Amino acid sequence: MYTLNPPRILMHEDVAANPVYRARVERVVQACQTPVTPEVYADRDLPALLAGGLAAGRIPMGAMPTVPDPVLLFNTFRFDGQGEARLRQFSDPDRKRWEGLLRELLGDRAFQWANYNQEGDAHRHDKVCRPCWRIHLQNGCVHKCAYCGFGGLLIAAVNIEEYCHWLGKLAERHPWQLTYLLDDDGDPPGLEPELGTLGPLIEYFGTLKDRYLIIHTKTWNTAWLKDLDHRGHTILVWSLSGATQSRLIEPITGTTEQRLAAAHLAQETGYTVRFKFKPIIPVKEWREDAEAAVRQVFEQTRPDVISLCCFMWMDIDDLKRRLPVDRLDPEFLAAAEGARAEVADTITKPFPPAFRQRLYEHYFREIRRWDSKIPVSISTETFAMWKTLEPLLGVNARNYPCGCGPFTIPGAPTLTCDPFTVPSRNDQGDIPGVFPAWKPA
Ligand code: SF4
Repeated sequence: MYTLNPPRILMHEDVAANPVYRARVERVVQACQTPVTPEVYADRDLPALLAGGLAAGRIPMGAMPTVPDPVLLFNTFRFDGQGEARLRQFSDPDRKRWEGLLRELLGDRAFQWANYNQEGDAHRHDKVCRPCWRIHLQNGCVHKCAYCGFGGLLIAAVNIEEYCHWLGKLAERHPWQLTYLLDDDGDPPGLEPELGTLGPLIEYFGTLKDRYLIIHTKTWNTAWLKDLDHRGHTILVWSLSGATQSRLIEPITGTTEQRLAAAHLAQETGYTVRFKFKPIIPVKEWREDAEAAVRQVFEQTRPDVISLCCFMWMDIDDLKRRLPVDRLDPEFLAAAEGARAEVADTITKPFPPAFRQRLYEHYFREIRRWDSKIPVSISTETFAMWKTLEPLLGVNARNYPCGCGPFTIPGAPTLTCDPFTVPSRNDQGDIPGVFPAWKPA
């Protein structure tokens, strides 16, 4: 596991009372650089813990002068259908202030329906993601990416056996969903193998027919994966970045070289590996860094798909708060400053489409220098950007093999079904641990 010095470690009373769960926490504690005694807490303590600063580090890490390791908090997912009742035990002001975090802390979000491009999706038509179930083990991260706000507190659930039971029920009800993306709000290999929850999940997917786990990561930490009975049912997707970005902006993650070495190791033991250049930050050296990183990918690994995504999801002022502006390409910065009105209505801000396209075309050309066939897609982009790049990429927004979407099994075949109309939610209100809770009409 990573070398960590967490300022505090907490475990829920249910974790403390269960010898298997407690042992998981104790292994992590012993592996910390300076082990600290875990504090045992109950649900009723949560408002006071939050008011006392438990989540004070949940701010963009680039805006902090120094970033400490996160507080580690171990809990369980609750599969009893009582999530809303548990939340109601807190006062209105506490709920209003902390609802999102309280749900995480109460173990109320094991599985989440991602209603992308469906009714209720505020960003419908603004990104081409497909509706699906997302699954979670952790919330928070040991990495310290400057642009990210998931530092400060890492919440990790430890009841993996119960989790797999209910995940199996969910999978049975949704035969159309072939792959399950884990944790888009954390990077779970950070506490492994000591924590011992990711290994059982990988081995559980190894027992399923035609279902695959996708772990999206920036880690260097894969040596422990080799001993698992994964049976080819886990796909590791690295968010990869060039040398300058990985060293300067994404500390604690693996560098470009370390991530690729980790991918090579995983591939050698039968895991499918793929890459997303995501988020691509236009540092001054972005062209040369892209060329070197793409070359290294093909020298060291055989990915089945590569996706591209420009840095996005915030306006230029927010970007300037988080990133070292003096290290960015001045032309891109000026373009973002000048495009405030043009990108005001899209989540793909701050860089205007013509500049994002410039990045994608450069990466695409580099990839094609090394591999004439590998599927290349753009990730979380707009339908308009897809239309522009369709002739170049040779696939479109409806049929492209996605790096982490619900249909892209190992080998990354082009889709044959409609990814927007085939997925439908069918948990029927009787699978606990899902968010948002849903009852059939
Ligand atoms: S790896 Fe992902 S979750 Fe972790 S700090 Fe970086 S961006 Fe945030």
